[in-house]
Amino acid sequence: MKDPLILVIEDEESIRGMLRMALEIAGFECIEADNIQSGHTMIANKRPDLVLLDWMLPGGNGIELLRRLKREDSTKELPVIMLTAKTTEDNMVQGLEVGADDYVTKPFAPRELIARIKALLRRSPGVLQDERMQVGKLILDGESKRIFLGQEILEMGPTEFNLLHFFISHPERAFTRGQLLDRVWGANVYVEERTVDVHIRRLRMALQSASLDYSSIIETVRGTGYRFSSRSVVPAAERFEASGMHSAHWQ
Ligand code: CA
Repeated sequence: MKDPLILVIEDEESIRGMLRMALEIAGFECIEADNIQSGHTMIANKRPDLVLLDWMLPGGNGIELLRRLKREDSTKELPVIMLTAKTTEDNMVQGLEVGADDYVTKPFAPRELIARIKALLRRSPGVLQDERMQVGKLILDGESKRIFLGQEILEMGPTEFNLLHFFISHPERAFTRGQLLDRVWGANVYVEERTVDVHIRRLRMALQSASLDYSSIIETVRGTGYRFSSRSVVPAAERFEASGMHSAHWQ
């Protein structure tokens, strides 16, 4: 398998150099852009597997490019990690709301950034191969990395996909935000717990098709966190009551 290709869009040369070194040591291939326009062109021409996107760039800010990427069919599932010097929670949330899959605040430890990149790339081919899990009309197909609800393909980002994969493999159990961060984002990654809420909200929004609404399959457990429970959306007869916890089954 070829090395994952990471595009760094960052105007500060010293940070780009540091990133390139860290990425190459970790076994990634790295390409660089120093402004939004050339970054956008590289995304179209080189098809990177993941983008590290600086917030403040000459000729516009990273959020504008992020918005564009998430609007276009060909790029909306491309994982994007925002690099930001902005530390307020509002800015973090704004980045996630627009569709960033993660964010890192400068200055950051390269090792932590690499851990986050790997967490996001878990969705790439080679992982979850051939897995197919079904709960009611919701199907996670590991081979195509697609989620189906009935006949429709649901659109979601890599973090929402990883979250759903975790939930569907651990049904009917309540998890705290901290546990979800450990299990879905990775134990070595520091992310604020509020991040989980943003991704849960996005996952719930994604779990709806024109004719089916599975958003309530992710339950809020007051005082604890979240639980994946098919009880509200799957008729009792279609559940596997006899096998207890195993309402998700493998095909
Ligand atoms: Ca900058």
